[in-house]
Amino acid sequence: MDERRGSAASRGYGSRWRQARAVFLAAHPLCTLCQHDGRVTPATVVDHVIPHRGDQALFWDASNWQALCKRCHDAKTAREDGGFGNPGDR
Ligand SMILES: [Zn+2]
Repeated sequence: MDERRGSAASRGYGSRWRQARAVFLAAHPLCTLCQHDGRVTPATVVDHVIPHRGDQALFWDASNWQALCKRCHDAKTAREDGGFGNPGDR
């Protein structure tokens, strides 16, 4: 929304990432996790399979990307942040 406040833009992957993401989503239009479950859901997010945590090499490594829908991405992010308190899943 507001890029001036977004940590993503301030870390330097603003327009370049937007473009790379658009290309990736064009090539991978469906959510990877939904497909595993037999659902066909349009992907809207490019997720890092291994959280990059600011690592530029990992961030830009396309083999570490997967196309996700927002719902799957939010669920994954919540797990990684421990927000759901799901110790059995780690
Ligand atoms: Zn999904």
